[in-house]
Amino acid sequence: MNNYQEYLQAETVAEALELLAGSSRSTAVVAGGTDLLLELRQGRHPKVDRLVDVSGIESLRMISRDGDLITIGAGVTHKEIISSPLLQEHARCVVEGCGLIGGPQVRNVATIGGNVAHALPAGDGTVSLLALDTEVELVSAQGSTWQPLIEIFAGPGKVNFDRSKTLLTGFRFAARGDREASAFQRVMRPQGVAIAILNMAAWVKLAGSGAIERARISCGPAGPKPFRAQKTEQFLAGKKWDENSFQQASEILAGEVNLRTSPHRATKEYRHLLLPVLLKKVLDSAVGRAEQ
Ligand SMILES: Cc1cc2nc3c(=O)[nH]c(=O)nc-3n(C[C@H](O)[C@H](O)[C@H](O)COP(=O)(O)OP(=O)(O)OC[C@H]3O[C@@H](n4cnc5c(N)ncnc54)[C@H](O)[C@@H]3O)c2cc1C
Repeated sequence: MNNYQEYLQAETVAEALELLAGSSRSTAVVAGGTDLLLELRQGRHPKVDRLVDVSGIESLRMISRDGDLITIGAGVTHKEIISSPLLQEHARCVVEGCGLIGGPQVRNVATIGGNVAHALPAGDGTVSLLALDTEVELVSAQGSTWQPLIEIFAGPGKVNFDRSKTLLTGFRFAARGDREASAFQRVMRPQGVAIAILNMAAWVKLAGSGAIERARISCGPAGPKPFRAQKTEQFLAGKKWDENSFQQASEILAGEVNLRTSPHRATKEYRHLLLPVLLKKVLDSAVGRAEQ
Protein backbone atom coordinates (compact mmCIF):
# COMPACT_ATOMS: atom_id res chain seq x y z
CA MET A 1 0.00 0.00 0.00
CA ASN A 2 1.26 3.51 -0.82
CA ASN A 3 2.23 5.80 2.01
CA TYR A 4 0.83 8.71 0.00
CA GLN A 5 -2.30 9.29 -2.09
CA GLU A 6 -1.10 11.81 -4.69
CA TYR A 7 2.27 12.21 -6.41
CA LEU A 8 2.49 15.57 -8.22
CA GLN A 9 5.43 16.82 -10.25
CA ALA A 10 6.18 20.55 -10.23
CA GLU A 11 7.97 22.21 -13.12
CA THR A 12 8.62 25.57 -11.47
CA VAL A 13 9.19 26.85 -7.93
CA ALA A 14 5.92 28.83 -8.17
CA GLU A 15 4.02 25.69 -9.15
CA ALA A 16 5.59 23.70 -6.30
CA LEU A 17 4.59 26.40 -3.80
CA GLU A 18 1.04 26.40 -5.16
CA LEU A 19 0.81 22.63 -4.82
CA LEU A 20 2.16 22.82 -1.27
CA ALA A 21 0.01 25.76 -0.19
CA GLY A 22 -3.13 24.69 -2.04
CA SER A 23 -3.73 21.50 -0.11
CA SER A 24 -5.48 21.13 3.21
CA ARG A 25 -4.04 17.61 3.30
CA SER A 26 -0.61 16.69 4.67
CA THR A 27 2.05 17.35 2.07
CA ALA A 28 5.79 16.79 1.69
CA VAL A 29 8.42 17.85 -0.81
CA VAL A 30 10.32 15.01 -2.42
CA ALA A 31 13.52 15.32 -4.49
CA GLY A 32 15.62 12.16 -4.93
CA GLY A 33 13.45 10.34 -2.37
CA THR A 34 16.41 8.42 -0.92
CA ASP A 35 15.63 9.60 2.61
CA LEU A 36 11.92 10.37 2.48
CA LEU A 37 10.55 7.34 0.62
CA LEU A 38 12.54 5.00 2.84
CA GLU A 39 11.31 6.73 5.98
CA LEU A 40 7.69 6.60 4.76
CA ARG A 41 8.03 2.91 3.94
CA GLN A 42 9.64 2.13 7.29
CA GLY A 43 7.04 4.17 9.23
CA ARG A 44 9.69 6.61 10.51
CA HIS A 45 7.89 9.54 8.80
CA PRO A 46 4.18 10.26 9.34
CA LYS A 47 2.09 9.25 6.32
CA VAL A 48 1.44 12.07 3.86
CA ASP A 49 -1.46 12.53 1.46
CA ARG A 50 0.42 14.51 -1.16
CA LEU A 51 4.02 14.33 -2.36
CA VAL A 52 5.28 17.25 -4.45
CA ASP A 53 8.25 16.17 -6.57
CA VAL A 54 10.68 19.05 -7.19
CA SER A 55 13.34 17.05 -9.04
CA GLY A 56 12.16 18.33 -12.45
CA ILE A 57 12.49 22.04 -11.61
CA GLU A 58 15.26 23.26 -13.91
CA SER A 59 16.08 26.38 -11.86
CA LEU A 60 17.00 24.17 -8.88
CA ARG A 61 19.48 22.19 -10.99
CA MET A 62 22.03 24.97 -11.65
CA ILE A 63 25.63 25.31 -10.46
CA SER A 64 26.87 28.81 -11.24
CA ARG A 65 29.29 31.60 -10.41
CA ASP A 66 28.19 35.22 -10.22
CA GLY A 67 31.12 37.50 -9.36
CA ASP A 68 32.59 36.23 -6.09
CA LEU A 69 29.62 34.00 -5.23
CA ILE A 70 29.16 30.34 -6.11
CA THR A 71 25.58 29.02 -6.10
CA ILE A 72 24.42 25.40 -6.03
CA GLY A 73 20.72 24.72 -6.67
CA ALA A 74 19.00 22.60 -4.03
CA GLY A 75 18.00 20.06 -6.69
CA VAL A 76 21.57 19.38 -7.81
CA THR A 77 22.47 15.72 -7.30
CA HIS A 78 25.62 14.54 -5.55
CA LYS A 79 26.79 13.09 -8.88
CA GLU A 80 26.45 16.52 -10.50
CA ILE A 81 28.35 18.13 -7.61
CA ILE A 82 31.32 15.80 -7.85
CA SER A 83 31.44 16.16 -11.64
CA SER A 84 31.48 19.98 -11.56
CA PRO A 85 34.88 21.59 -12.40
CA LEU A 86 33.64 24.82 -10.78
CA LEU A 87 32.98 23.06 -7.46
CA GLN A 88 36.18 21.03 -7.67
CA GLU A 89 38.01 24.36 -7.76
CA HIS A 90 35.92 26.37 -5.28
CA ALA A 91 34.26 23.85 -2.96
CA ARG A 92 36.62 20.92 -2.62
CA CYS A 93 35.18 19.90 0.77
CA VAL A 94 31.66 19.70 -0.72
CA VAL A 95 32.90 17.62 -3.64
CA GLU A 96 34.69 15.29 -1.20
CA GLY A 97 31.70 15.08 1.17
CA CYS A 98 29.10 14.46 -1.53
CA GLY A 99 31.45 12.01 -3.27
CA LEU A 100 31.24 9.72 -0.23
CA ILE A 101 27.43 9.72 0.05
CA GLY A 102 25.88 6.30 -0.57
CA GLY A 103 26.96 4.53 -3.75
CA PRO A 104 26.62 5.58 -7.40
CA GLN A 105 22.88 4.74 -7.52
CA VAL A 106 22.14 6.97 -4.54
CA ARG A 107 24.41 9.79 -5.76
CA ASN A 108 22.69 9.76 -9.17
CA VAL A 109 19.33 10.80 -7.70
CA ALA A 110 19.94 12.14 -4.17
CA THR A 111 20.20 15.91 -3.91
CA ILE A 112 22.13 18.38 -1.78
CA GLY A 113 18.82 20.06 -0.85
CA GLY A 114 17.45 16.76 0.46
CA ASN A 115 20.61 16.15 2.48
CA VAL A 116 20.33 19.56 4.14
CA ALA A 117 16.53 19.54 4.62
CA HIS A 118 16.74 16.14 6.31
CA ALA A 119 18.75 18.00 8.99
CA LEU A 120 20.81 15.14 10.34
CA PRO A 121 23.74 16.36 12.49
CA ALA A 122 26.18 14.31 10.38
CA GLY A 123 24.79 14.74 6.84
CA ASP A 124 27.94 14.72 4.72
CA GLY A 125 26.69 17.41 2.31
CA THR A 126 25.46 19.58 5.18
CA VAL A 127 28.68 19.40 7.21
CA SER A 128 30.81 20.17 4.15
CA LEU A 129 28.67 23.21 3.22
CA LEU A 130 28.98 24.60 6.77
CA ALA A 131 32.76 24.89 6.47
CA LEU A 132 32.22 27.28 3.55
CA ASP A 133 30.00 29.58 5.66
CA THR A 134 27.15 28.80 3.29
CA GLU A 135 23.87 30.67 3.08
CA VAL A 136 20.65 28.94 2.06
CA GLU A 137 17.65 30.36 0.21
CA LEU A 138 14.22 29.54 1.67
CA VAL A 139 11.15 30.24 -0.46
CA SER A 140 7.52 30.07 0.66
CA ALA A 141 4.24 31.78 -0.26
CA GLN A 142 5.41 34.62 2.03
CA GLY A 143 8.52 35.34 -0.08
CA SER A 144 12.17 34.35 -0.17
CA THR A 145 15.11 34.92 2.19
CA TRP A 146 18.79 34.01 2.31
CA GLN A 147 19.89 32.85 5.77
CA PRO A 148 23.11 31.44 7.23
CA LEU A 149 22.80 27.67 6.79
CA ILE A 150 23.83 27.02 10.40
CA GLU A 151 20.68 28.85 11.58
CA ILE A 152 18.02 26.65 9.96
CA PHE A 153 18.56 23.58 12.14
CA ALA A 154 16.41 22.98 15.22
CA GLY A 155 17.45 19.49 16.36
CA PRO A 156 18.12 16.03 14.97
CA GLY A 157 16.00 15.79 11.80
CA LYS A 158 14.33 19.12 12.62
CA VAL A 159 14.43 22.50 10.90
CA ASN A 160 13.06 25.84 12.05
CA PHE A 161 10.76 26.30 9.03
CA ASP A 162 7.64 24.47 7.88
CA ARG A 163 8.97 21.75 5.56
CA SER A 164 5.51 21.14 4.11
CA LYS A 165 5.17 24.76 2.89
CA THR A 166 8.76 25.89 2.26
CA LEU A 167 11.29 25.05 -0.42
CA LEU A 168 15.05 25.22 -0.15
CA THR A 169 16.05 26.54 -3.54
CA GLY A 170 19.83 27.01 -3.34
CA PHE A 171 23.06 27.47 -1.44
CA ARG A 172 25.68 30.18 -1.91
CA PHE A 173 29.19 30.79 -0.59
CA ALA A 174 32.28 32.81 -1.48
CA ALA A 175 34.43 31.69 -4.39
CA ARG A 176 37.86 30.41 -3.39
CA GLY A 177 40.32 33.24 -2.91
CA ASP A 178 44.09 33.38 -2.90
CA ARG A 179 45.70 30.99 -0.34
CA GLU A 180 42.33 29.51 0.61
CA ALA A 181 41.32 25.85 0.46
CA SER A 182 39.06 23.24 2.07
CA ALA A 183 38.88 19.50 2.74
CA PHE A 184 36.47 16.85 4.09
CA GLN A 185 37.03 13.48 5.76
CA ARG A 186 34.86 10.96 7.55
CA VAL A 187 35.01 7.60 9.31
CA MET A 188 32.30 5.02 8.60
CA ARG A 189 31.63 1.56 9.98
CA PRO A 190 33.03 -0.99 7.50
CA GLN A 191 29.52 -2.00 6.39
CA GLY A 192 27.99 1.40 7.05
CA VAL A 193 26.14 3.13 4.25
CA ALA A 194 24.24 6.13 5.45
CA ILE A 195 25.63 7.99 8.46
CA ALA A 196 29.24 8.56 9.42
CA ILE A 197 30.62 7.65 12.85
CA LEU A 198 32.24 11.07 12.60
CA ASN A 199 32.80 13.50 9.77
CA MET A 200 34.66 16.80 9.53
CA ALA A 201 35.25 19.60 7.06
CA ALA A 202 37.76 22.44 7.24
CA TRP A 203 38.34 25.65 5.32
CA VAL A 204 41.45 27.79 5.81
CA LYS A 205 42.89 31.07 4.62
CA LEU A 206 46.64 31.41 5.02
CA ALA A 207 48.47 34.66 5.71
CA GLY A 208 51.61 35.63 3.75
CA SER A 209 53.67 34.30 6.70
CA GLY A 210 52.21 30.82 6.16
CA ALA A 211 50.20 30.95 9.41
CA ILE A 212 46.47 30.35 9.39
CA GLU A 213 44.75 33.71 9.06
CA ARG A 214 41.22 32.27 9.44
CA ALA A 215 39.81 28.75 9.78
CA ARG A 216 36.37 27.18 9.74
CA ILE A 217 35.72 23.70 11.06
CA SER A 218 32.45 21.77 11.02
CA CYS A 219 31.78 18.23 12.18
CA GLY A 220 29.05 15.77 13.01
CA PRO A 221 27.48 14.16 14.84
CA ALA A 222 28.79 16.56 17.48
CA GLY A 223 25.51 17.60 19.07
CA PRO A 224 21.83 17.68 18.16
CA LYS A 225 22.48 19.92 15.15
CA PRO A 226 25.19 20.21 12.50
CA PHE A 227 28.06 21.89 14.33
CA ARG A 228 30.66 24.64 13.73
CA ALA A 229 33.67 24.43 16.09
CA GLN A 230 33.96 28.16 16.73
CA LYS A 231 36.31 27.97 19.75
CA THR A 232 38.76 25.84 17.78
CA GLU A 233 38.43 28.20 14.81
CA GLN A 234 39.22 31.20 17.03
CA PHE A 235 42.23 29.44 18.54
CA LEU A 236 43.67 28.60 15.11
CA ALA A 237 43.48 32.17 13.78
CA GLY A 238 47.04 33.49 13.64
CA LYS A 239 48.68 30.12 14.46
CA LYS A 240 51.06 28.20 12.30
CA TRP A 241 49.69 24.69 11.64
CA ASP A 242 52.24 22.48 13.40
CA GLU A 243 52.40 19.77 16.06
CA ASN A 244 51.98 22.28 18.89
CA SER A 245 48.90 24.03 17.44
CA PHE A 246 47.45 20.64 16.47
CA GLN A 247 47.72 19.36 20.07
CA GLN A 248 46.14 22.50 21.51
CA ALA A 249 43.41 22.65 18.86
CA SER A 250 42.56 18.98 19.52
CA GLU A 251 42.01 19.72 23.20
CA ILE A 252 39.83 22.75 22.50
CA LEU A 253 37.80 20.79 19.94
CA ALA A 254 37.31 17.89 22.37
CA GLY A 255 36.00 20.40 24.91
CA GLU A 256 33.44 22.03 22.64
CA VAL A 257 31.84 19.03 20.89
CA ASN A 258 29.05 17.00 22.42
CA LEU A 259 29.82 13.44 21.33
CA ARG A 260 27.45 10.62 22.28
CA THR A 261 27.29 6.86 22.18
CA SER A 262 24.93 5.63 19.47
CA PRO A 263 23.96 1.94 19.71
CA HIS A 264 24.44 1.10 16.02
CA ARG A 265 27.53 3.13 15.24
CA ALA A 266 30.07 3.98 17.92
CA THR A 267 30.73 4.82 21.52
CA LYS A 268 31.39 8.33 22.71
CA GLU A 269 34.91 7.27 23.72
CA TYR A 270 35.69 5.95 20.24
CA ARG A 271 34.41 9.17 18.68
CA HIS A 272 36.70 11.14 20.99
CA LEU A 273 39.64 9.06 19.75
CA LEU A 274 38.70 9.85 16.16
CA LEU A 275 38.36 13.58 16.69
CA PRO A 276 42.09 14.51 16.56
CA VAL A 277 42.65 12.02 13.74
CA LEU A 278 40.09 13.75 11.53
CA LEU A 279 41.23 17.21 12.64
CA LYS A 280 44.78 16.43 11.55
CA LYS A 281 43.66 14.96 8.24
CA VAL A 282 41.37 17.83 7.21
CA LEU A 283 43.74 20.58 8.36
CA ASP A 284 46.81 18.93 6.79
CA SER A 285 44.90 18.63 3.57
CA ALA A 286 43.32 22.11 3.54
CA VAL A 287 46.57 23.85 4.57
CA GLY A 288 48.56 21.85 2.00
CA ARG A 289 46.13 22.85 -0.75
CA ALA A 290 46.11 26.51 0.32
CA GLU A 291 49.91 26.58 0.09
CA GLN A 292 49.91 25.50 -3.56
C1 LIG B 1 21.77 3.56 0.70
C2 LIG B 1 21.85 4.97 1.20
C3 LIG B 1 23.08 5.50 1.53
C4 LIG B 1 23.18 6.80 2.01
N1 LIG B 1 24.41 7.28 2.34
C5 LIG B 1 24.53 8.54 2.84
C6 LIG B 1 25.82 9.04 3.24
O1 LIG B 1 26.84 8.37 3.11
N2 LIG B 1 25.86 10.30 3.75
C7 LIG B 1 24.75 11.08 3.90
O2 LIG B 1 24.87 12.22 4.35
N3 LIG B 1 23.53 10.63 3.54
C8 LIG B 1 23.38 9.38 3.03
N4 LIG B 1 22.15 8.90 2.67
C9 LIG B 1 20.98 9.74 2.87
C10 LIG B 1 20.46 10.45 1.59
O3 LIG B 1 20.79 9.79 0.42
C11 LIG B 1 20.96 11.89 1.48
O4 LIG B 1 20.62 12.61 2.66
C12 LIG B 1 20.37 12.61 0.27
O5 LIG B 1 21.15 13.73 -0.02
C13 LIG B 1 18.92 13.02 0.42
O6 LIG B 1 18.51 13.68 -0.77
P1 LIG B 1 17.17 13.33 -1.53
O7 LIG B 1 17.10 14.25 -2.70
O8 LIG B 1 17.05 11.86 -1.82
O9 LIG B 1 16.10 13.75 -0.40
P2 LIG B 1 14.59 13.29 -0.22
O10 LIG B 1 14.54 11.93 0.35
O11 LIG B 1 13.81 13.55 -1.46
O12 LIG B 1 14.14 14.35 0.89
C14 LIG B 1 14.74 14.36 2.18
C15 LIG B 1 14.05 15.44 3.03
O13 LIG B 1 14.29 16.71 2.49
C16 LIG B 1 13.09 17.36 2.10
N5 LIG B 1 13.44 18.08 0.87
C17 LIG B 1 14.05 17.56 -0.23
N6 LIG B 1 14.31 18.54 -1.11
C18 LIG B 1 13.84 19.68 -0.56
C19 LIG B 1 13.80 21.05 -1.00
N7 LIG B 1 14.33 21.46 -2.16
N8 LIG B 1 13.24 21.98 -0.19
C20 LIG B 1 12.71 21.60 1.01
N9 LIG B 1 12.72 20.33 1.48
C21 LIG B 1 13.27 19.40 0.68
C22 LIG B 1 12.05 16.27 1.97
O14 LIG B 1 10.72 16.72 2.21
C23 LIG B 1 12.52 15.31 3.06
O15 LIG B 1 12.07 15.77 4.31
C24 LIG B 1 22.01 7.59 2.16
C25 LIG B 1 20.76 7.06 1.82
C26 LIG B 1 20.68 5.75 1.35
C27 LIG B 1 19.32 5.22 0.97
